[in-house]
Amino acid sequence: MSTAPCTNGARHKWVFVKNVNVGSMSVTARGTVGRFLLKGLYRCACGAKKHGQFNHNEGDLRSEIDSQYPAGYMQQRGAA
Ligand SMILES: [Zn+2]
Repeated sequence: MSTAPCTNGARHKWVFVKNVNVGSMSVTARGTVGRFLLKGLYRCACGAKKHGQFNHNEGDLRSEIDSQYPAGYMQQRGAA
């Protein structure tokens, strides 16, 4: 990945922001296929951003989802 030179110093100083799900859906002969990649979003003080390694110390995305929906939501989806 090519990034512009840092305006704050010799090199970007990447700071972990959050984990993100970088996914894409594609239609194939066998149906719709979703590919999901967990990545970490990093940001420099100069404003540059990049996707880097998923941060396993930052908790998982499922706990985020659980807090956003009422209890039982995931079970209902699984049964449907
Ligand atoms: Zn920078």
